[in-house]
Parts: sequence; structure tokens; C-alpha cells
Amino acid sequence: MENLRIPGPTPCPPEVLYALGRQMINHRGKEFEGMLKEITVNLKELFQTKNDVFVLTGSGTGGLEAAIVNTLSPGDKVLSLSIGVFGERFANIARLFGADIIPLNFEWGKAADPDAVHQALRSEPDIKAVLVTHNETSTGVTNDIASISSVVKEFNKLLLVDAISSLGSINLPIDEWHCDVTVTGSQKGWMVPPGLTMVSVSKEAWQAYAKARMPRFYWDFTRAKSYLERGQTPWTPAISVIFALSVSLKMMLNEGLPNIIARHAHVAKAARDGVKSLGLSIFADESHASNTVTAVAASNGLDTKKLLQLLREEHQVILAGGMEKLSGKIFRIGHLGWVNEDDIAKVISALKVVLPQAGFRSPG
Ligand SMILES: *Cc1c(COP(=O)(O)O)cnc(C)c1O
Repeated sequence: MENLRIPGPTPCPPEVLYALGRQMINHRGKEFEGMLKEITVNLKELFQTKNDVFVLTGSGTGGLEAAIVNTLSPGDKVLSLSIGVFGERFANIARLFGADIIPLNFEWGKAADPDAVHQALRSEPDIKAVLVTHNETSTGVTNDIASISSVVKEFNKLLLVDAISSLGSINLPIDEWHCDVTVTGSQKGWMVPPGLTMVSVSKEAWQAYAKARMPRFYWDFTRAKSYLERGQTPWTPAISVIFALSVSLKMMLNEGLPNIIARHAHVAKAARDGVKSLGLSIFADESHASNTVTAVAASNGLDTKKLLQLLREEHQVILAGGMEKLSGKIFRIGHLGWVNEDDIAKVISALKVVLPQAGFRSPG
């Protein structure tokens, strides 16, 4: 079997795969109602929120679009904190729908600096909302949402959070840290296939919704809320993935959120220690290194394309390359969802064999 260690889609446990093969049911019927209501309760527990939580059919990017079109109007000034590819994407969606984006970009590999956020909000009083990526999957960096949020809330702005590759894996207490809309995706830490995006919506986000004029139909939160009251979704959902999510959430609650968070921290440390023991270095500023994905710098002659190919063809280990301008400069190990230390140990031992074959000259 392949050892799939990319930052989504992630491998699914057998119980989850089994649920995917279930016969269809009526998505306007009693059984679906019970399942969706139970999923919603379980998601709220894992999101650490009392806010509304919706399960929408679409990939994570759809959830990002939903966050924007439900809270903003064309012409709104929006501060975009970007530390990589996904931060750029979030800003691009808002820009496309007419937001006036004020970019606050940080060097890739670094985290967003809360003091710079403070300065930006002080100098532009008209800013309506702040966009931030909790875990930047392209660089392997986790932003300090607690600190960023306390700045954003000091200025009373809306905080929209891309937590697609962190929620359910890295601690993000949504209510305590005042995240107004938080977005995640089923194929990241949730141990289910792609197809669903799950979003939380705060009271302040609903107040913004009341004034928001961006066009929306498929992603409209009011439709999602009124249908959820009846245990339904506005449109035909990805029923099979919902079956799978229902199973995975029970597994997650069984393990317990603090244990899941600790496991990710533990496995991530094993990944970082492992690559460093091979003479490689971590691309991210290590004080903000992600617990769901490790980006490794391609130093000392390493050909990442060759590396990924050898790992895949000779060791059945699937890792990810760098995205956009990081292509060829880094490779990435995903360690989220259904993952333990042994999975990572296998990656490290395969790397040990393959590195010299991919041009890497050990530094010591
Ligand atoms: C994966 C990911 C996305 C994109 O999600 P899709 O499901 O591919 O649309 C966005 N942001 C982050 C941080 C991600 O990790």
C-alpha cells in the first residue's frame, strides 16, 4: 500500500472507507436528518464553538468563497495577511468579488507579525475585515491566531480564517479566539475524502451578513441555516462523504481532541527531527513550524523532482513538492489526520536511501 503523505487528501481509516460504500438514502428523509444533526453537534465540539457550523458540499476553496461572499460587499476594505500560496488565494477570491484588498504580505516561511497587523489596522480605520490563513500549507507555517485575533478584535474587525489544513489537528479554539468565519475541508485532518467544506459562523459574522451585498446563491449561509433546522442541506450534498464524516467524527471524539492535537504535535516533531537528522533543514521559521505539514528546504544539490519520483517508484512513499515559486525549492511531508509516528519513520527511512540518489550531498 502507498504511504500517502501529502497535505491532503490524506489516507482514510478502513471504517471510513467502508461507510463510503453504503447505499444512497433520501437526503430529505429522517435518517439523513438524524445524521446531519449529529454531525453538526460533533463538529461544534471539535471546532470548540457554540457558533453555527455548516457542512457544505464543495472543496475548501468553496468554503473560502462562502466566507467572503456572505460577509462582505464590493468596495469593502479588507486587510489580507498572506504568508504563502493559500493566503494569496483567499485575497484573490475577495478581490474578484470586488473587495478593496489591502495586502500585508510576509516573507514565505515566516509567520504573520501581530505588530504589523496592529500598525495596518491603525493606519486604515475603514478596514472591515481581516483575512488570515491559520496554517499555510504551502510553506509549513502556522500563524499565531490568538495574538492576531486579539489585535483584530481590539479594532473590532471581522476575522475570516482559512483553517483548512489545521482545524481538527492543531488547536484552534474558535470561540475563545473570536474567529468569525472559520473554514476547513474534509480531506485534510478529518480523515475523509474530498468533497465537503465545513464552516463556522459567529454572531458578528451574521451581523456582517445582514449588510453584505456580494452575489451569492450556492454558498448562501441563510439557506444553509434554514435547511439545517430541518436536518437538510439546501442542495443535494455529497451523501457518501457525509456517511464517511459521520464515522470519522465518532473516531475523533473517541480519541479526544486534546489527544489528537498532542498526536499531531508529536508526529510533527518526529518529522522535523527526522529530516534534520539526515542533514536537511526545515524551510519554515521553526518557532512557527506547522504540526500538519513539514516543508523541507532543497539544499546541497537536492533535485526534488527526482527525489519525489524515487520515493514514489521505489518506496511507495508519496510526498508533495513546492507550490508556485517554491517549486523545486522545497518538498513537503503531510502529517495530518490518520497518521502516527511509524508512518513518518517509514518516510524518514525511505528518504535516507533516496537522498544521495537525488543529488543530495550530506553537509557534515
Ligand atoms: C488545501 C488547502 C486549501 C484548498 O482547499 P481545496 O479543498 O483544495 O479547495 C486552501 N487553504 C489551505 C490552507 C489548504 O491547505
